[in-house]
Amino acid sequence: MREGKVVIVGGGIAGASLAYALGRRGGPEVVLVEAERTFGQHSTSRNAAILRTAIEADATRRLARETAAFLADPPADFGEHPLLEACGLIVSEGRPKDPAPIWTHDANEGTVQRLTPSELARRAPHAQPRGARAWWLPGDGKIDIAALLDGFLRGAREAGVELLSGTPVTSLLRRPDGLSGGLSGGLSGGLSGGLSGGLSGGLSGGVRGVELADGRQIEADWTVVAAGGWAAALGAGAGTRMDLEVTRRHLLVTGIDVSVDETWPVVWDDRAGWYARPESGGLLICACDQTVVDPDALAADTDVKLAVARKVAEHLPRFADAPAAHFWAGLRTLTADDVPLVGADADVPGLFWLAGLGGHGMTISEAVGRTAADLLVGTPVDAELEHALRPNRRCVPAPNA
Ligand SMILES: Cc1cc2nc3c(=O)[nH]c(=O)nc-3n(C[C@H](O)[C@H](O)[C@H](O)COP(=O)(O)OP(=O)(O)OC[C@H]3O[C@@H](n4cnc5c(N)ncnc54)[C@H](O)[C@@H]3O)c2cc1C
Repeated sequence: MREGKVVIVGGGIAGASLAYALGRRGGPEVVLVEAERTFGQHSTSRNAAILRTAIEADATRRLARETAAFLADPPADFGEHPLLEACGLIVSEGRPKDPAPIWTHDANEGTVQRLTPSELARRAPHAQPRGARAWWLPGDGKIDIAALLDGFLRGAREAGVELLSGTPVTSLLRRPDGLSGGLSGGLSGGLSGGLSGGLSGGLSGGVRGVELADGRQIEADWTVVAAGGWAAALGAGAGTRMDLEVTRRHLLVTGIDVSVDETWPVVWDDRAGWYARPESGGLLICACDQTVVDPDALAADTDVKLAVARKVAEHLPRFADAPAAHFWAGLRTLTADDVPLVGADADVPGLFWLAGLGGHGMTISEAVGRTAADLLVGTPVDAELEHALRPNRRCVPAPNA
């Protein structure tokens, strides 16, 4: 195992998955630093917990399918609870003449099946999605987020990773400009492996760890930004800019309703923009709203409830009068091409990105952390995947991304 120290900023699903994957390699000294008292308090515990592998972007879909395999069959020592309830997922999409989505092309036998209208009605009698076609993904479903996060954190701790919570990182420690040559030389025999070439041409002096709110400093060879909605701001402090857009999305859970069948699948209507699945005796519903926000000013907007109500009236009519038991908002940090940023910063030596998981953080959780760990320790990663994940790819943001 190579030498070196890694500090991970952010104890959501991304940071926890990386800590677990590095811990399993038994190698580098790793510290995971979380601002809040408890891990996973932000997007990781405010999402819909859906495993949806029907994703357009190739690299993200690949990470999703690898994670799906992990969730269905985790290592024996990962935990006692199943991680996945494979209740199945229906995607309704397109207009009649649209080509079939890309994720239907390269699916393995049986993992994506076309549904006839009568099969759709049988599987989801409560829903009236608008898409011209419906697809059935029997292996997708609901993830037990608490069990997944707990498994990552416990596995990391048992492997010797130091877990710090309630300790915000206030800044990234900078090396004086001009030291990058010496740094990359030192790292090339250590953690950097295949990355050292890219780093040696760094434009700044680089990052050498973090400073915490209590004044402590943690020196590290690699500083990983896994800070969800706060990632871009942290990176900007080190002089690097990433194409990350922080957006808000809401979820609503109806009150307990005896007409909800707990075995109903997830129904996702890509065309009309909503999804729903059973939750806690009611129905969890999302109107797929998206607004750019300041992560420090996240608050639920009650106007969005009206948007949910309109979609429910049209597509889930039997729940038109259902009361809302819970309504909340969370952050989705988007990249322009819907592929996360994973890898060493090309301009700032010592800085590594694990951010921009968008609306897929749970779905890609295991594979994105494991791939980041591979890159950090120098284990070969498929070149196409590594290329797609490069944080400095600087794709032009799509107008409505
Ligand atoms: C409404 C909604 C529904 C969603 N539904 C799904 C779904 O069904 N399936 C799916 O796959 N994905 C879904 N997602 C997306 C998923 O939740 C995210 O992709 C995922 O949680 C991102 O994880 P993360 O670890 O990057 O971010 P986070 O969970 O936000 O973790 C980042 C952590 O970094 C910490 N941090 C930030 N700054 C600092 C600092 N300076 N010092 C120390 N710590 C810091 C934060 O406190 C936080 O704990 C949904 C998201 C939303 C909002």
